[in-house]
Amino acid sequence: MPATPDPEAGITRRALVGLAVFGAAPALGGLAGCAALSDASAQPASGTSGSPATRTASADAAGPEAASAEAASAALARRLGAAVGAGDREGFLRCFTPGARTLGEVWFSAWRSFAGVELAGAPDGHLEVTWRVGEEAGTSATALPVRLLGGLVDGVDDPSPLPIWLRHPVVLARSGPVSVLAAAEVDADAWLEHARTAADRVRDAGLDGWHGWTGDVVVEIPVDSRDFDLRDAGDAGSGAAAYTVREVDHQDVVVVDPMVTRAWSDADVAGLLTHEVVHVALGVSGDRAPMWVREGVADWVAAPWWPKLRAENRAASAGAPADAELPTDADFADPDTVARAYALAEAAVAGIVAEHGRDALLAWAHDWAGAPAPSAAALTELLRAELARRR
Ligand SMILES: [Zn+2]
Repeated sequence: MPATPDPEAGITRRALVGLAVFGAAPALGGLAGCAALSDASAQPASGTSGSPATRTASADAAGPEAASAEAASAALARRLGAAVGAGDREGFLRCFTPGARTLGEVWFSAWRSFAGVELAGAPDGHLEVTWRVGEEAGTSATALPVRLLGGLVDGVDDPSPLPIWLRHPVVLARSGPVSVLAAAEVDADAWLEHARTAADRVRDAGLDGWHGWTGDVVVEIPVDSRDFDLRDAGDAGSGAAAYTVREVDHQDVVVVDPMVTRAWSDADVAGLLTHEVVHVALGVSGDRAPMWVREGVADWVAAPWWPKLRAENRAASAGAPADAELPTDADFADPDTVARAYALAEAAVAGIVAEHGRDALLAWAHDWAGAPAPSAAALTELLRAELARRR
């Protein structure tokens, strides 16, 4: 059962401070690297001309220790950024102690595959990383609690949320606006096909153009259930097959648990992604609707393509009473009621479509607070009528 966490309770990302920015693009004069760094922690790297060293006022205000931590992380950001921008693998790896070299290999490979990476220091010494994997409108970001030894990266603690590339090699598969970032063991190309299929279905359902969604989809497949849970800081709870996480600039990223879905059929996998891409298409405008609308629309769009979903919703709604109510947000959070909540949400949405048509449903879902949607009592009647039809 796909359980998407309430976007309102979603991720709070730290705002970036003091960007020292490099895209994975032109070489920067071949001056990248950490070779001469022991005494250069506060010096801007050569070859970064045109990009004034960015410092935040907070560093000085927070005292010498914070200023020192920020200076060290800012210097590291500049060196790593210059090396990844120049494609200088050895220079990049020279920013790591011998014991952390594997970590450097993983980061270099991942960041080089992205369409862009921005690195910055932070007052607490963390390394701020912002990245874009492909053609998506927004970005993802994390603050890495790097451990430095003599100005070099000696390790990293778990950030929260945890990017899937933190310690594990990843591969990127892209096709136009659809991208799949996956653990190296995963067949990213196969997932890319499913993601493209899902994006096409959601576009065909008439959900393109919502909040400016142009069809961009980012799917991430971590190596295991642990990294799946930590990608969302544990917000999704256990047992979900996938969720859609809202990044700080409203970029939505679909994250799938590779272990839960391992034995699923292709149809079920593509159905799951279809459900999640509906959330991407709804975006922030969908946040104004109650959860049963968001989940109901996602299930309703996906149901024709998703055998597993149809079977589960049929089973969960079979015993629903004739006076069933619209599911509350709390019903989606309770393990005892969540299965029926999804089933009733899908039935309610199907009931709305049967009575008012698809265009009315999509208009209401797009702007639930502003559009003159039917009253709760009228909607409840549509749910009950649909359940009666299905008995
Ligand atoms: Zn959902």
